[in-house]
Amino acid sequence: MPSFVINDKCDGCKAQDRTACQYICPNDLMVLDKEKNKAYNRAVDMCWECYSCVKICPTQAIEIRGYADFMPLGGVVQPLRSTDSIMWAVKFRNKKVKRFKFPIRTTPEGTIEPDAGFETGSDDLKSPVLRTEPESL
Ligand code: SF4
Ligand code: SF4
Repeated sequence: MPSFVINDKCDGCKAQDRTACQYICPNDLMVLDKEKNKAYNRAVDMCWECYSCVKICPTQAIEIRGYADFMPLGGVVQPLRSTDSIMWAVKFRNKKVKRFKFPIRTTPEGTIEPDAGFETGSDDLKSPVLRTEPESL
């Protein structure tokens, strides 16, 4: 079974219009039960197990519960993001835990130039045409 929301940990992203897991899922699978204020995966068979929702959830409320042929039952992989790194905690079914930390960026947060130095301007970033169009057509 793919992504699974642990109800006790999910706070519904504090009742914002769109939760973090809804925003990030490339398959539009996560929905929020507004009465319970809990998210859930509405079509687990469509889940790619891409881990995007697991990584973005601010409360570590989402787990991937993989199929037994590649992830032993009881095993859990849980990421914890910071501004410059991600820590993966791998819990084996015998309760042994291993942690792996990787850098996720080489520049300080907020310093990336959206136009990558091409001086295209913010309106160009919203345009549907490529940077060299229409001249290159
Ligand atoms: S991102 Fe996490 S806390 Fe927010 S609604 Fe989804 S599961 Fe709940
Ligand atoms: S693992 Fe990926 S495809 Fe599956 S619910 Fe999460 S974000 Fe969507």
